[in-house]
Order: sequence, then C-alpha cells, then structure tokens
Amino acid sequence: MKENNRIVILGAAESGVGAAVLAKKQGFDVFVSDFGAIKPKYKELLASYDIPFEESQHTESLILNASEVIKSPGIPDKAPMIKKLKEKDIHIISEIEFAGRYTSAKKICITGSNGKTTTTSLIHHMLKKAGLNVGLAGNIGHSFAMQVATENYDYYVIELSSFQLDNMYDFRADIAILLNITPDHLDRYDYQLQNYVNSKFRITQNLTEENYFIFCSDDEITIRELEQIVVTAQKLPFSLNKKNKPGAYVENNNITINYRDTDFAISLDELSLLGKHNTYNSMAAGIAGRVLDIRKEIIRESLSDFQGVEHRLEFVLKIHGVDYINDSKATNVNSVWYALESMANPTVWIVGGTDKGNDYSELFDLVKQKVKAIVCLGADNTKIIKAFKDIIPTIIDTHSMDEAVKASYQLAKNGDTVLLSPACASFDLFENYEDRGRKFKDSVREL
Ligand code: ADP
Repeated sequence: MKENNRIVILGAAESGVGAAVLAKKQGFDVFVSDFGAIKPKYKELLASYDIPFEESQHTESLILNASEVIKSPGIPDKAPMIKKLKEKDIHIISEIEFAGRYTSAKKICITGSNGKTTTTSLIHHMLKKAGLNVGLAGNIGHSFAMQVATENYDYYVIELSSFQLDNMYDFRADIAILLNITPDHLDRYDYQLQNYVNSKFRITQNLTEENYFIFCSDDEITIRELEQIVVTAQKLPFSLNKKNKPGAYVENNNITINYRDTDFAISLDELSLLGKHNTYNSMAAGIAGRVLDIRKEIIRESLSDFQGVEHRLEFVLKIHGVDYINDSKATNVNSVWYALESMANPTVWIVGGTDKGNDYSELFDLVKQKVKAIVCLGADNTKIIKAFKDIIPTIIDTHSMDEAVKASYQLAKNGDTVLLSPACASFDLFENYEDRGRKFKDSVREL
C-alpha cells in the first residue's frame, strides 16, 4: 500500500464505485462513504474488492484524513462535508479527473446542455464500426474509472456533464466537443449563467495545439465566451449556415465537412437522426471522425445507420396511421423546441411534469405551426394550460400516462403524430425520465 495516500470517495454509485476499484488497484488506502443507502450491487462489488465503506452517514474521522477526495457529481458544493473538506484544504476531484491519470488512451470528450448522450453514442458507434478498440464512458454505462481499471481500450468516448467538469483540473481531452450552451441547472451555479458557462468551458482546459476543439458557431453563448478567452487547440466549428473551413456546415441539403483542405459531403437525407439538433450532432460526430482519420465511407455509414438512443425522439409504433414518438428525455424547453421543429405532421403534444422555471413563450411560434392539440401530463398542469390556452383550442388535463396516451389516441387522426416531449422533469409522477418513457411505450403498445 502507498504511504500517506488515502483516497476517500464520497458517493457510492457508478462513478464512485468505479473510482474506488481503480484506486484500490493503484495501491491506495481507499475508503468509500455515502450519506444515503448504497445499492446492493455496489455493496457487493466493493466487498469483492475488499474496499471498506459506510452508508447512511459520513464519519468525519474517516474522511477528513484523506490526501485526496473523489466526489460524486451529484453532491453539491453546499453539502456540509464538502465545506469541511474545503476548510481543511483537501483536494476534491471528479472520478473522470482521477481515472484520466491512469490511461494513455485517446479521449474524445463531449459536453453541452443538450445532445451529449446522442453525440457520444454516435461517435462511439462510428469508432466501433471503424474497428477501433474503444470504450464508452462518462454518464453512459460503466464508469470511466471502472473501465480504466478493468479494460485496455485505446480510445474512450466520454460524455461529460458540467458537474463532472467542475472538479476537473489537469485532465486533458484529445478532442473536446462543446455542442451548445443554454441555461440549465442554474440552481447549482448560484443562478449565475457565467458560472455554468465557465464549467462547460473546462472541457477546453489544458488543450494544446495538438488537440482539437469542436464547437457550434451558431451558439451565441459559446461564441461570446470564445471572444473573451483563449483556447489553445485546433478549432473546428460547425454551423447550419456559416461556411466553416475548416469545420462543417450545411449547404444545398448537404453537410460538408472541410478538414485538411478537403471537402466531404453527406446529404441530409442520408442521416438517420432527424431534426436540426441532430444535424448539429451529426456534424460534430463527422468532424471527430475526420480528425481521427476514419474512412469517409465509414463516417457516412455510421451517420446513416445509427439507431439513436432510447427516449430521444424514439419512434415507438405506428397505429392507424399515427406515429407515436417518445422524447421523454426532453426535460427542458430547448430540447422540446428542436423536437417540435422536426415534426413533419400535425402533432398531438404530451407535455408536463415538474416545472423547472420554464418560459414557454419561446415555443409559441412552433406550437402554432405544428401542434393540433395539447395533452398535459403532470400532477399540476395549470401553468401549461395558462401558457397555451389562447393559441391551442384543445388542451386536455391528465394525471397519469395511461390517461394521457388514451386522450392522445382519441385526438390523433391518420397522418398525425403523437409526441411525448415533456419540457419538464418527471419526478411528480415517475421515478425518472426513463420510467416515464417506458410507461409511455407500454401504454402505446396496449392501445
Ligand atoms: P443530454 O445527454 O445532453 O441530456 P441527449 O442526447 O440525451 O442530451 O438528448 C436530450 C434531449 O435533447 C432529447 O430530447 C433530444 O431530442 C434533444 N437534443 C439532442 N441533441 C440536441 C441538440 N444538439 N440541441 C438541442 N437539443 C438536443
């Protein structure tokens, strides 16, 4: 065991347990503490590696003697134990920062307010198709640390939330992708947008001229920030209208990716993921593919046969000529905007849940164009009814998934679409957005 090298891990879920296993394998004195209950599968895993842990408490004497602490992204800085650690000047890092120290694999890292999981999965799909030895990590599947501990990948595609980025200092991405920035999670950032922007931009820290920064040049907040700071990396922007060279843009119904003075075009009709937001995601992935020297045919194939990710504009069934689409992951107004924008048919829109301070006026124009009826699905739907009652004549108030799906079935006619895209969190009626999406699919299949 290394001397004076005590690593304490706060939070024993996917990332914490992965970090504990990696730290143990690296010879540290490891202790895991969770203020809540630890899931049985994680307790078994910790026990199998002989890692001591506690649950439903934080014992100060076992924590404040740490040489370094790895904190779960779910624990806010306001938590009393974090304050105590800071008072004692104990270094707090994220699991990604820790794991990054123990791998020399190439790291393609993706952040943004929306589209992270989709773009991360799409790039992973592309690298696999290209035959590379690649792991998928971050907020998806197994933690980065667990894979660094137990696998031997040459590449990692890593989804990074702002909470993970907050405790990253020396970590360096090889390819950093920032998809967009729209206000989200401001409760964790003292209600200051700039704090959230700074957090997202941590993805660019430590980049060198050998690295790449892929970003959206249509995103106002990103562009404004880039005018204020210096990012040392090769910059590869993507846009729906600006002709970025090098970079990517849309022209004449094609995506063009320009890299090392060569153009590579893919028709928008070839893309498997629909909607403007997915055109952005596909451009970001396509640029990453070019940077990694993946063959153009493979990039093209990957962008046209990627099946998408569950709960993100996921096609469920066609019943009596009506398409049912599950976009349960759309938990903010911005992602609903893109979902509605991509609707080609008159839409019955299922919306509602736990409101996060939504301003629905941003959706008025699109709703007028695309939506024929609204089905509210939430414990309390008054805010939504008030927002839309003057634009949409038919608004139904429901309080369970079954009720909402049945009401939508009554309203939709041959050629219409029923879209679940809630703009809200799910905790009023469901466990989480996955539970909401699954219940939607179950209710649709029972129609
Ligand atoms: P994240 O992992 O950032 O939450 P997801 O890929 O899970 O993003 O998608 C979340 C929601 O955002 C989905 O409803 C999806 O349709 C929408 N979305 C996906 N990509 C984008 C994008 N580039 N811009 C805006 N919304 C997007």
